[in-house]
Amino acid sequence: FFITLEGGEGSGKSTQARRLNAFLRRKGRDVVLTREPGGTTHGEAIREMLLSGLIRPFGSEAEALFFAVARREHVLHLIRPALQEGQVVICDRFADSTRAYQGVAGVAPETILRLEETALCDTHPDLTLILDIDPSMGLARAAGRSAADRFEGDELELHEARRQAFLKIAEAEPHRCVVIDAGLSMDEISAQIEAAVVARLPR
Ligand code: C5P
Repeated sequence: FFITLEGGEGSGKSTQARRLNAFLRRKGRDVVLTREPGGTTHGEAIREMLLSGLIRPFGSEAEALFFAVARREHVLHLIRPALQEGQVVICDRFADSTRAYQGVAGVAPETILRLEETALCDTHPDLTLILDIDPSMGLARAAGRSAADRFEGDELELHEARRQAFLKIAEAEPHRCVVIDAGLSMDEISAQIEAAVVARLPR
């Protein structure tokens, strides 16, 4: 069973991914917790290139290509093998982040879909939790983090556009996606996530 967490800056994704991991382990599940970009040694190297801004001068399409390379590596060498062994995979960001981030940055939807096909090798999430938060609240939360962790400026409009992009994905794929109100407390968010997962996870 493949679960992805998506959402904007400061939505609490990474904390919630860790909490969900602990929750499922307590339930006796065999779980793999991973993140994008990254997840494998080569994937983490690409993460460094992307987060350091090295790829930025080449433009949004080039960034989308790099994300696709990292994702394909991640799917082939970590996600797919784990799923084949019957493990639950929790991934902090996945293909929807490219749809939202690179989509809003101007990469054509057809390009994004083609890259997604190549990267995913038919490995699609069974459940995507979209952590939805008002960007001004999310940015305030994220402001506590180190500067090295920041990938882009704080333009509110851009963050709002990404938020809308995530909500559109949820609307288009209601069977896969559940929107979580990430403006609540961490415990309340966890409770929503646990309920959504328990309702869908095969026994
Ligand atoms: O999940 P986390 O916030 O650590 O992700 C690192 C950064 O990578 C994000 O803040 C986001 O700006 C960027 N990113 C991106 N496009 C993706 C995935 C992540 O721009 N497809």
